[in-house]
Amino acid sequence: MHFDLDDWQETARRSFRKYLDAEVAPLVEAHEDAHRPPPPEVLQKMGEFGLLGGLLPEAQGGAGLDYLTYCTLLCELSQVWPSLRSIVSTSNLVLMIIAQRGTPEQQQRWLGDLISGRKTAFFALTEPNVGSDASNVETRARRDGDGWRLNGRKLYISNGTGADLGVVFARSGEGDGAGVSAFVVEAGTPGFSAREVRSMGMNACPLGELLFEDVALPPDHLIGTEGEAFAIAKHYLNVGRCFVSFTCLGLSIAAYEAALRYAGEREQFGRKIGGFQLVQQMIADMMTGVETSRLLACRAADALDRSAPDRGRACSMAKRHNSDTALRVCETALQVHGGAGYTRDFPVERYYRDVRHLTIAEGTNQLQALLLAQGALGISALRG
Ligand SMILES: Cc1cc2nc3c(=O)[nH]c(=O)nc-3n(C[C@H](O)[C@H](O)[C@H](O)COP(=O)(O)OP(=O)(O)OC[C@H]3O[C@@H](n4cnc5c(N)ncnc54)[C@H](O)[C@@H]3O)c2cc1C
Repeated sequence: MHFDLDDWQETARRSFRKYLDAEVAPLVEAHEDAHRPPPPEVLQKMGEFGLLGGLLPEAQGGAGLDYLTYCTLLCELSQVWPSLRSIVSTSNLVLMIIAQRGTPEQQQRWLGDLISGRKTAFFALTEPNVGSDASNVETRARRDGDGWRLNGRKLYISNGTGADLGVVFARSGEGDGAGVSAFVVEAGTPGFSAREVRSMGMNACPLGELLFEDVALPPDHLIGTEGEAFAIAKHYLNVGRCFVSFTCLGLSIAAYEAALRYAGEREQFGRKIGGFQLVQQMIADMMTGVETSRLLACRAADALDRSAPDRGRACSMAKRHNSDTALRVCETALQVHGGAGYTRDFPVERYYRDVRHLTIAEGTNQLQALLLAQGALGISALRG
């Protein structure tokens, strides 16, 4: 099994990276320090490079990319600006939901702006009382004439305060057995408000708490079939796990390369610290982490490309392994830098903060372990 890029994929990767290094990298520190989202022109450029909707067929305004190519671009972006990666892949997930589950009218209305990067989107599932147990959403959508009234709160929503619209998962209909439905909610809709939740890293991708107070939604804001959206959430979270596994790979590569550079320059005891065996062991551990992450991430993308029956397992495994590994690699890279690694003068401090949430988001690594073991044993640790 090999995952070498062909000439076309390699050219796409290189030209995207050239743009990132020249135009995006110089913006990162200032935007992160100021908690300021990326400029609109950078988001629109992401659209041009296929990061927004690139997986969709050309007939829908996409680029017809396969997962391996798309995720290779995500991995490059993660090496340069993880916050921008988060905005882009969240928006991308939402536009895929609209493209694949929405009506032609809904696609016509929202897809163009999301694919071009003129607008961005959030994906709102998590709530104050509902995290890992995501099927238990408490946000309610009640029928109101032929439309809906939405009430509830969502928490830790990426891109939650900056986005123009989002998909919100809510229990619809009456009674405890009511199913979960997905609705598009646009910024500025009366009754919908958002506040920023300050977090440890990823400062340029605002994390939001969303409040829905009697928000009136027309009937055509329902995406897919009423009561069946939890299956949509599960499907796209799985795709999201593949994206996260490449994000972790990107952060691991960036941290590893920073450690290599530093170990080759910094001198103590009259020699380069890279000459000390204990530092070499850290380098070897990081290098191995990068390679195992690459294999599992590519294996997940390949499983999605082939619609392989074990794609859920491949995505969970890659997400769990690569986020645990990236955490270790980023921490080790910081250690190789000594005191310098703890300062804002070197990027490893940011990598360490930015990577930390990835063992939590898109389903915690504990939940991934339970899903993987359930697949192997046929016994669920979650419910009876
Ligand atoms: C930076 C960031 C971005 C996010 N972006 C989004 C987003 O865009 N959209 C969205 O909907 N959500 C988002 N989330 C939310 C994320 O999906 C949740 O935080 C995650 O699912 C965990 O839920 P929780 O935080 O409520 O933790 P909890 O579910 O309360 O878990 C707390 C701890 O208990 C453990 N635990 C829980 N249940 C079990 C169990 N059965 N067995 C073993 N251990 C268990 C967990 O693994 C964890 O360690 C984001 C989170 C972060 C940090």
